[in-house]
Amino acid sequence: MRVVTTTHAPDLTPGPYGEPEPTPLALLLLGRSADPNSERGVECPGELPAPSDPDLVERARAAKRRLGDRVFVLGHHYQRDEVIQFADVTGDSFKLARDAAARPEAEYIVFCGVHFMAESADILTSDAQQVILPDLAAGCSMADMATAEQVAECWDVLTDAGVADRTVPVSYMNSSADIKAFTGAHGGTICTSSNARRALEWAYGQAEKVLFLPDQHLGRNTAVRELGFSLEDCVVYNPHRPNGGLTPEQLRDARLILWRGHCSVHGRFSLDSVRDVRERIPGVNVLVHPECRHEVVAAADHVGSTEHIIRTLDAAPAGSAWAVGTELNLVRRLSRAHQDKQVVFLDRTVCFCSTMNRIDLPHLVWALESLADGRVVNRIQVDAETEANAKLALERMLALP
Ligand code: SF4
Repeated sequence: MRVVTTTHAPDLTPGPYGEPEPTPLALLLLGRSADPNSERGVECPGELPAPSDPDLVERARAAKRRLGDRVFVLGHHYQRDEVIQFADVTGDSFKLARDAAARPEAEYIVFCGVHFMAESADILTSDAQQVILPDLAAGCSMADMATAEQVAECWDVLTDAGVADRTVPVSYMNSSADIKAFTGAHGGTICTSSNARRALEWAYGQAEKVLFLPDQHLGRNTAVRELGFSLEDCVVYNPHRPNGGLTPEQLRDARLILWRGHCSVHGRFSLDSVRDVRERIPGVNVLVHPECRHEVVAAADHVGSTEHIIRTLDAAPAGSAWAVGTELNLVRRLSRAHQDKQVVFLDRTVCFCSTMNRIDLPHLVWALESLADGRVVNRIQVDAETEANAKLALERMLALP
């Protein structure tokens, strides 16, 4: 059974590039079966320890000790503290996938992150390594906003408009293996929030237009801020409207075709968040991720990837004040790590990534103990054809100048 709902309430005061309408999205009931239209699975078999079990920390330590070098635990920056304490390495999704590939002796890669990240790790690691996602319901709402069927339909629309052969796809790392495979099969590349500019520059060397998937904000922000595009150079393809809601003329005139997807965490920050924090903390530096809306990015002092945010705060002088627009688990950790600076969350409301937060200590203990007992659970495995095409796109990214 599926429930169709929205990722967040309709924005009643949208900026010109906000999310004025709710995006229908399958929110899966937690339980058995999988949704073929989603990048997630939902099954989480087995007996989970109770969250109230006072021995969870010791149980996780003991299971890791039993597994030794056979297990390598990856922790994304947005994970809870209770989980991140067991990570052998922390980072963003691409760094973690590469770290896993650099540890071939690790038979099990336990990925504390979300589904698309575990898929990327499976693509980049050897066949002898098995990637485990402690809770299969840890998906990503942004990745779910572009399904393989929708993207194939979009390509047909571009073909009918006579622009497909002048277009190259560029897909954000935050996409399913299917979308990465589509990108590879159509001559495109993957990008991260750190190298989006280089990916777009490469793409415009290959073709006249780019189809940017699935995060409209990263695509728009990079093109306008870093490549000098105008907002009018960009159009937004809405997969829930006939022909993406665009005319053939609009597609022919556009230089950048943005998929109508967004991050439900970063999409919450608004111009009001920026104005409000500037009033509350005079002299504050506003530092945001490029997944934020264009008007928020335009109003910020500094913009950059998660790794850029971490480096910026490391280099900031003592006594400086920072309002950070990214996921709350990370902002809290940064705030604790920089006691000599004032580091606050950009918005007044709490804003965790709910799917990242699905990975909690009981799920991690369950996964580690199962592996230590010789049972492989929640393995994420990308099929060979998808993996081959997705790898093409990832390798093009690795070869970017
Ligand atoms: S923070 Fe946004 S992009 Fe990252 S996993 Fe959560 S919903 Fe997806």
